[in-house]
Amino acid sequence: MTYDVIVVGGGPAGATAARVLGEAGISTLLLDKSSFPRDKPCGGGISTRVMGRFPYLDSALANIPVNWVSKVYFEAPSGIAVDYAADERLYLMIRRSEFDNLLFSMACKRVDCVTPALVRKVNFQNDGVTVEAEVAGERREYRGRMVLGSDGANSVVARASGLRSGAVKSEYAIDMMEETPYAELGLAERDRMYVYYGYQGQYGYGYVFPKMNHVNLGIGCKLDQYLAGMRGEQYVHHRAFVDGLITKRLLTGASSRANFRAFPLPISGPLPRTYAERTLLCGDAGGFVNAFTAEGIYYAMVSGEHAARTAVGAIRANDTSSKRLSAYEQVWKNEIGRDLSKSVSIQRLLLADLSRVDRIVKAAARNPTLAGLLARYATGALPYEQFKRSVIMRALPLYVREKARALFC
Ligand SMILES: Cc1cc2nc3c(=O)[nH]c(=O)nc-3n(C[C@H](O)[C@H](O)[C@H](O)COP(=O)(O)OP(=O)(O)OC[C@H]3O[C@@H](n4cnc5c(N)ncnc54)[C@H](O)[C@@H]3O)c2cc1C
Repeated sequence: MTYDVIVVGGGPAGATAARVLGEAGISTLLLDKSSFPRDKPCGGGISTRVMGRFPYLDSALANIPVNWVSKVYFEAPSGIAVDYAADERLYLMIRRSEFDNLLFSMACKRVDCVTPALVRKVNFQNDGVTVEAEVAGERREYRGRMVLGSDGANSVVARASGLRSGAVKSEYAIDMMEETPYAELGLAERDRMYVYYGYQGQYGYGYVFPKMNHVNLGIGCKLDQYLAGMRGEQYVHHRAFVDGLITKRLLTGASSRANFRAFPLPISGPLPRTYAERTLLCGDAGGFVNAFTAEGIYYAMVSGEHAARTAVGAIRANDTSSKRLSAYEQVWKNEIGRDLSKSVSIQRLLLADLSRVDRIVKAAARNPTLAGLLARYATGALPYEQFKRSVIMRALPLYVREKARALFC
């Protein structure tokens, strides 16, 4: 049998795409190397805008434990901090094993799913694609008219299609995290998330995210920095972060190595091209991560949905050429392009000189309006353009508005 679309990877990007394809009646095969529920190293914090953008989540989330936070604590490298409490929910906290299983199960009601199926190769022919996967110790081949690559940061589809090539060191971060039950690693307040920008001047960020029954915390830095001086010592660095928070009495108990994972994430924005002949990339496979906040779940779902809608049009028109599929780039750029490209410039600007973070946090500590805008931007509640406008118009005195305009515009 030849499927219309083969989706490789059943995380938030692939599961969202498969759901849309299945609803449109497109014959679809979803492959994932893991059986669900599976773990995915992640903070598991999602911007509240996900609820408006994907309304079906409202009832679906009732099936898994979730926690909402409305307070955000930001700390700059020098230790200056701002603690902001909003009147409304700011961030949704989920465990990836549960959230991804939910999305995956919803997709599998509508499309064929095979797991565990480790995709090793994607071959392109004039009239379709062949996906080679290892299933139950055997090599299997699946035929499709086109492929959708949603296989994450180490995407096989991105490489096979030629859309990602060469070394990735400077384009990735490595995030080191653990997710441990409160009984072992306690956190008194579960309505507040903690973000440490430029933690100790050594890491890009540190974070503590309270889930319903677990604390999720970790540090991240650029992959080239990790490879130059931290290789093989991930847990030592993570442990020092946790012990520091225990000393400060934010946490009680001890870190659990068994719950520790390190994983890469792209931080250079979407790839220069996210489509090719018979191929579309979405989620981490295409680089759809906010480089400033490391938020990727929302962008994975949005890009997955756009990729699927583009594929539906292409299959119905019997045209899976790259020319036809290029329409994908236009639609995702319209919705999230500016946010993602600006996140890269903001990240580079701040990492180039961490004293800028100090100055921003100091200003926010003195100015509650700015603190609120910063909290909403960092949690994805405010898109970049709105954040910029609001900072200039509402939070800054006249004499610094001009400087801000020069920085942002
Ligand atoms: C430690 C860490 C913390 C993070 N914290 C946050 C956060 O708090 N909030 C947030 O929004 N984002 C966060 N991110 C980013 C977020 O995890 C990703 O952006 C998001 O998971 C992307 O979804 P995806 O569907 O594209 O990829 P994934 O979730 O990685 O899913 C890819 C799927 O493809 C499958 N796969 C991979 N290779 C193959 C193969 N060869 N064959 C078959 N299947 C394959 C995998 O098993 C997986 O199920 C974090 C990332 C890291 C590393």
